Amino acid sequence: MDTNHNLFFTHLRCRECGHQYPKQAIHICEFDFGPLEAAYDYAAIGRALTREIIARRPQTMWRYRELLPIDGEPTVGTQVGFTPLVRADRLARKLGLRELYVKNDTVNYPTLSFKDRVVSVALSRARELGFETVACASTGNLANSVAANAASAGLKSYVLIPADLETSKVLGSLVYGTNVIGIHGAYDQVNRLCSEIAGKYGWGFVNVNLRPYYAEGSKTMGFEIAEQLGWRAPRQTVVPMASGSLLTKIHKAYKELAAIGLIENTHFAVYGAQASGCSPISEAMKKGSDLVKPVAKPRTIAKSLAIGTPADGYYAVHAMRDTAGSAEDVTDEEIIEGIKLLAECEGIFAETAGGVTVACARKLVASGKLDPNASTVLCITGHGLKTAEAVAEHCGTPRLINPSLREFELLVKDELTTVVV
Ligand SMILES: *Cc1c(COP(=O)(O)O)cnc(C)c1O
Ligand SMILES: [Zn+2]
Repeated sequence: MDTNHNLFFTHLRCRECGHQYPKQAIHICEFDFGPLEAAYDYAAIGRALTREIIARRPQTMWRYRELLPIDGEPTVGTQVGFTPLVRADRLARKLGLRELYVKNDTVNYPTLSFKDRVVSVALSRARELGFETVACASTGNLANSVAANAASAGLKSYVLIPADLETSKVLGSLVYGTNVIGIHGAYDQVNRLCSEIAGKYGWGFVNVNLRPYYAEGSKTMGFEIAEQLGWRAPRQTVVPMASGSLLTKIHKAYKELAAIGLIENTHFAVYGAQASGCSPISEAMKKGSDLVKPVAKPRTIAKSLAIGTPADGYYAVHAMRDTAGSAEDVTDEEIIEGIKLLAECEGIFAETAGGVTVACARKLVASGKLDPNASTVLCITGHGLKTAEAVAEHCGTPRLINPSLREFELLVKDELTTVVV
């Protein structure tokens, strides 16, 4: 695929009416306002791609490039992805599951969240389409990734965020020298403003006019999970939801791999996780409705998931329902317990969204919605140091002594089980 023309990625298509569009920076159908999605020639991909060909490629998300919506070679984020899939036996015992894995995107390159996947596709495409300025509306992680990847690509960037984000998320954008705009308002208001700016200034907004490209990057998390399990879809995948995009794309990823014959067409289910302080999608699921009722004032420590009007909520509900999955939501207290449980059992420090995923999985097992005997993957999407304040007061403090052996021994004498010689 060294040409400028990707014969596998054929066009954009409206998810509602199926109307076809050219591969431009557009994201909404002009007939029914349905979202546009990348469409591919799966028969051609099936003929071109084998497990062996993929296995010979570098361990990055771009090893599945035939299933990604750019025309030439990737130019931004070429090293992103292929994060570890960790067998999590200790956590499995705590949750009451038999076969559990953690897909660990806390160590995604370069900004320690799964957003590096979506940004590398969006910015590679932005360059192909000739944009010189890129931008985003973000709950934090997307801003970090746009800022970092734009810096390394020499693109100008603007990131717009709610003004009250975590310190590390704000610093994690500022450090790259991007233009950080803090908005007095919730994410929905930031997003609305971005739509106005995108229309007026002709910038490449990764999650507005470039959204069809951006969204496809999330599929690579699903592709990797399947490959790392030895080319099979896990029976159950638990996914944190903000706009609901990642969940729908993991669903799409497993379906695509089955469609092109890289995995067997076995039954799998997707489960959505939200924070109770902003759970519009999980509420809709619980009510058995696909009407996702907006949350006007999100109130949760899981700020990365605090989207009151989730763009893909409707499709997330259908992905869960079509696969016989379900959704759950958890309180801030449960989120903190989830973060600590994952850290103490598996040595993985996740951000609040990870706490949401672990805590929701625990609730879903307890309520019988997750089958304890079926293979299960938890998608852990961001690093804990980015939301340190969420757990800072819940992990204790170091015990302080002077540099003296006597003081040390006094301190630990009741804790030692072996004889000191
Ligand atoms: C953005 C984000 C998600 C999910 O986002 P979607 O909009 O649902 O795709 C999950 N976890 C973290 C840490 C995120 O930053
Ligand atoms: Zn349409």
